[in-house]
Amino acid sequence: MSRLWNFSAGPAALPQPVLERAQRELLDWQGCGASVMELSHRGKLFTGLARQAEADLRELLAIPEHYAVLFLQGGATQHFAQIPMNLAAEGASADYVVTGHWGEKAASEAAPYVKVNLAASSKGESYRRVPPRETWQLDERAAYVHYTPNETIHGVEFHDIPDVGDVPLVADMSSDILSGPIDVSKFGLIYAGAQKNIGPSGLVILIIRRDLLERASRPMARIFRYADHAANDSMLNTPNTWGWYLAGLTFEWLKEQGGLAAMRERNAAKATLLYGAIDGSGGFYRNPIELASRSRMNVPFTLHDSALDADFLKESEAAGLLALKGHKALGGMRASIYNAVPLEAVQALVAFMQDFAKRHG
Ligand code: PMP
Repeated sequence: MSRLWNFSAGPAALPQPVLERAQRELLDWQGCGASVMELSHRGKLFTGLARQAEADLRELLAIPEHYAVLFLQGGATQHFAQIPMNLAAEGASADYVVTGHWGEKAASEAAPYVKVNLAASSKGESYRRVPPRETWQLDERAAYVHYTPNETIHGVEFHDIPDVGDVPLVADMSSDILSGPIDVSKFGLIYAGAQKNIGPSGLVILIIRRDLLERASRPMARIFRYADHAANDSMLNTPNTWGWYLAGLTFEWLKEQGGLAAMRERNAAKATLLYGAIDGSGGFYRNPIELASRSRMNVPFTLHDSALDADFLKESEAAGLLALKGHKALGGMRASIYNAVPLEAVQALVAFMQDFAKRHG
């Protein structure tokens, strides 16, 4: 077997014990004589699995009872549009705080359904930091405030939950959910595509304060209405059963690891090690993000001479380090170090980076 250390931004590395268990159970799940992928989502076996996965997620994130947890599809991108459809009345406006590519996309996809007020943006500073809270132009009549706690491409992260008063706070947590404990009660809605810290792509977890389910007032098909999904335990139509199963295995794995407090410590140790290597390289490697806004999950960096990029990528892969190529919008490199990427992987990356710098410095 030749699994490499995988720094992919998403779909990203999954915990190896999760993959091994899925492999063991693939043909015959719990002795039922069929794969979990081959079972009715309405049968007792699958609904039991679904309930357990939700219970485990509720326990991990300490999700209060007055929040519904939905297992949906469409990627985070579909929910960029579906969130305003559900939370904003016709003619209403919503505040968007944009700190990178995905926040920008969330705002533009929402625009057909809600008046988008760009309350703050760091685009003019090439998304190098979270704009200071006191500069945000929030509107207290806004239907909600949307932000992206972790920008996967730019590597910019909020390290505190912003205070936006009584307006519901909506967070796209696609690339930081489950990376540490959060206070769910501070949010109106949290959503996340699964393919970074949860499981395979094709599944979206959405956590919504139940009173907000009542807001959807415009005409829309039931499939778009979160209240209908909640009333049907996310089985309004056939859910992504395979994704739900793997997410459940990941939740079990996280509990075995000591839960989200333990993940927070591990993720901090990994990020400290990697940023330390970048900052300590005498300018050979650089990360452009302001210290207080650096992401613990996605670490973009450049080499002092981009002519070395191709060699860096070729040699890193030969050294067993996968998917370090940066996003095409930024170039350079990016190491995504989600929950399933162990400290040993980051140690191997740092050792390679130091050796490469020595040979090419
Ligand atoms: N938001 C964030 C923060 C992301 O990182 C991504 C994907 N990388 C998306 C949204 C879009 O997700 P999807 O492709 O699943 O729609």
